[in-house]
Amino acid sequence: MTEPFDALAQLASVDATLITLERSRAFLPARVALAELDSLVAGIDRALGLLDDERQGLDAALATLERDVERMSQREAELSAKMAVATGAGRELNAMHQEVTHLASTRDALETQELELLQALEPFDAAQAPLVQERQQAEATRPGLIETLQREETALKGEILEAQARQQDVQSRIDPALLERYARIAKGSQGVGASLLEHGHCSGCHLGLAAVELDRLKKMPLEDIALCEQCGRLLLRPEQLS
Ligand SMILES: [Zn+2]
Repeated sequence: MTEPFDALAQLASVDATLITLERSRAFLPARVALAELDSLVAGIDRALGLLDDERQGLDAALATLERDVERMSQREAELSAKMAVATGAGRELNAMHQEVTHLASTRDALETQELELLQALEPFDAAQAPLVQERQQAEATRPGLIETLQREETALKGEILEAQARQQDVQSRIDPALLERYARIAKGSQGVGASLLEHGHCSGCHLGLAAVELDRLKKMPLEDIALCEQCGRLLLRPEQLS
């Protein structure tokens, strides 16, 4: 007599296990850690983006200055080369000499501005450096987490396969009509079609049964299966189980 009810109870248990396992897929420790890593990196990127926005004007001014200084240095070199091969002390040589002097003093002024800009950028560099370092350190953990996640997924898959094998084995021991009834109820009851009556409570919905109902179940023939009035699951009584 207990055999079909024992099998039903086992099926409910293995079905509950399978649901828990399937749900745990989304919350594997490495998956959670990877999501946390993503949000940490996103936060760092936002902070770096804000700093970038703030320093954009200074960076652009610095780039312009660097180009100007470079252009002047080239012109100075050109003129110096020409002067080196020029003969006599003509007006042209004099003009070149004046231009070189002018270029050099302008370049000095620009280089001073360049230094000032670099100083103005220092606080940004100081703020960015630890963020960049933190980002690198965070990203360095990613490959390990991905590897761990793969291991966790493989292990979970193994557990699911094992539970599915147990499920099939238990199902094969239940009368097809009863199994179909169980499956129909399970569909509307979060995947588990049977529960146990434990200390006056249904193990499926955890609600207590009314005294009248408990009394009615006591008088019910052993071969009849009760239904939980609250959740609609097949409600197995202790006396039906071995
Ligand atoms: Zn219930």
